[in-house]
Amino acid sequence: RQFKDYALSEDIVRALDSLGYKNPTPVQSEVIPVALEQIDLVVKSQTGSGKTAAYGIPVCDLVDWNENKPQALILTPTRELAMQVKEDITNIGRYKRIKAVAVYGKQPFSVQKTELKQKAHVVVGTPGRVLDHIQRGTIALERLKYLVLDEADEMLNMGFIEQVQAIIQAIPEDRMTMLFSATLPEDVEKLSRKYMDNPMHIEI
Ligand code: AMP
Repeated sequence: RQFKDYALSEDIVRALDSLGYKNPTPVQSEVIPVALEQIDLVVKSQTGSGKTAAYGIPVCDLVDWNENKPQALILTPTRELAMQVKEDITNIGRYKRIKAVAVYGKQPFSVQKTELKQKAHVVVGTPGRVLDHIQRGTIALERLKYLVLDEADEMLNMGFIEQVQAIIQAIPEDRMTMLFSATLPEDVEKLSRKYMDNPMHIEI
């Protein structure tokens, strides 16, 4: 299958073409059709497999450009990954003019607060800083419909379990959740059982 065979909008297919993504990687061909149906997903896949675009493509396709408040929240274990994911989302969403904002520690809170107040379709961030914004009321949560937990095993290894749970509990229950992880230890499975709705499991 090629990207144009999926039910993706023309501006997303065009962006993938301009990025030189000719064919979906295995994780993308498994994930994209299911994600477009807004079914919860637990995906076991490694970095380098094209996992970012596996969720980035459906997220960019699903968000409504006209809505100014954040619709997708992507949690990553590190600042570096948050910045990379923001860039990938911006690239995939370039012709749809998707606005992505990254929030992470060691960057002034005020800059992020201003960015979050403007149009932001997708927020990418590390758990500590995202929770900080939630607790200070500087991120609008009411329109969130898509949650991605990227490198979930790493987030838990780094001790972010409490922040991740507090974030999930603060956002609307009526949402789609995708969890990506290189390994699926019991604490990751437990998180998925607790907060996801009958997720489909995909292993690459
Ligand atoms: P990731 O696993 O998300 O870190 O992606 C690994 C690399 O593969 C990144 O440099 C992506 O830009 C690239 N990539 C992702 N999807 C595709 C694709 N369908 N075709 C070619 N390159 C891709």
